[in-house]
Amino acid sequence: MSTDPRVEAVARVIGAYGTSEKVSAEFMGYATEALAAADAVDPLRRPGHVLEIRPTSYGIQHPPECRPHLLDCPLEMLMSEEEKAPALPGRYPAEVIDAELVLGPRIEES
Ligand SMILES: [Zn+2]
Repeated sequence: MSTDPRVEAVARVIGAYGTSEKVSAEFMGYATEALAAADAVDPLRRPGHVLEIRPTSYGIQHPPECRPHLLDCPLEMLMSEEEKAPALPGRYPAEVIDAELVLGPRIEES
């Protein structure tokens, strides 16, 4: 099951579900495909963190829910301890799972 909260929200809209009904796997599938298509057009709308690795530095784009407590951000803390770039320069979806940095596929700039 997807951890992206947008999938269920989209499935509820396209399947015309009420707030308490269980959404079918069929509509969750449609929603997953619709969001993947939208993310391919505009990768920066994806939820979660984006890590930009530059040749000698890095930048982190935080999701809105992270912004009130940036200093406690697990990605911020982990990256401040990294001594070498975790991947080739580029932009990557990034998260911290079990204190490990997990990068998604590199985001192609359009
Ligand atoms: Zn953050």
